[in-house]
Amino acid sequence: MNDYTRLLEEWGDLLERRPTFRGPLAPYGDILEAWARWSADAIVPLAWSRDECRARWQRGLPLLAEMSPAIPTRTMEDLVGAALDFLAAVGTDPELLGGVAAAWDRGDLAPAGLLPCKGRLGSVSVQETLKLSQEGLGFLAVASLRPPLDAYFAQCRPHVADGAWNLSVCPLCGAPPGFADLTEDGRCRLACHVCASAWIFSRMCCPFCGNRRANDLVRLAPEDPAEEGYAVEACKQCSGYVKAVDRRLRWNAGSALIEDWGSPHLDLIARRSGYWRPIPSIVELAGAA
Ligand SMILES: [Zn+2]
Ligand SMILES: [Zn+2]
Repeated sequence: MNDYTRLLEEWGDLLERRPTFRGPLAPYGDILEAWARWSADAIVPLAWSRDECRARWQRGLPLLAEMSPAIPTRTMEDLVGAALDFLAAVGTDPELLGGVAAAWDRGDLAPAGLLPCKGRLGSVSVQETLKLSQEGLGFLAVASLRPPLDAYFAQCRPHVADGAWNLSVCPLCGAPPGFADLTEDGRCRLACHVCASAWIFSRMCCPFCGNRRANDLVRLAPEDPAEEGYAVEACKQCSGYVKAVDRRLRWNAGSALIEDWGSPHLDLIARRSGYWRPIPSIVELAGAA
């Protein structure tokens, strides 16, 4: 079973646990199916050694800052198509999406234009050309890059061991974190939705602005006792938030991405309190308040 077949199974399990989300979250299932049928055959993984990776990390650079991954455009056709279908399903203007599809077909939009850069997903110039919202472009980036970047960094991922990286962006692709896991030993492990990596980060620090003032770091937990272990961790300084699951209380929780996509009620709690997230969820994309 490949990782994406497993994610699809975890998604099925999550919808069993939260059946009322089955309808509203159906577009995510289509993305997971596109990922599961995608083939990594055309990707040549980056073969940097542990020392080559660590030399970049010691300078505070994610690997992607120093090279451009070779992702053949044709390997992403189906993934981009699935991402555009998702955006249509959550209400993005069909004319805009037609423009994105045409830009992709003409070659004006290429994989490189969707890569993370300086704390955001996709370049500013691509966003201006496509006229997509930042959330729309961000989702297009996650949905279409995840399997190829996962395959591209597969040999470097094991080098992200304890202590090799302590910044808040992904050590491989540089994207902001998509979800937080509180691990069995009480540490915070951030997850990257764009390339599937994960790294340990301080629990005393905002992963978006670096703020360490305890009074500014807030935790919003749902009142329902059935939701024990799930929370929104937010920062009053930059108003950023990341959702978290405490795996000491939720031993049967799914992968970070599945838990993130499967908890839109927590995004609603965060949004209603005025917080934002850099990696968009269906709640931002559908414009729900
Ligand atoms: Zn990443
Ligand atoms: Zn902050």
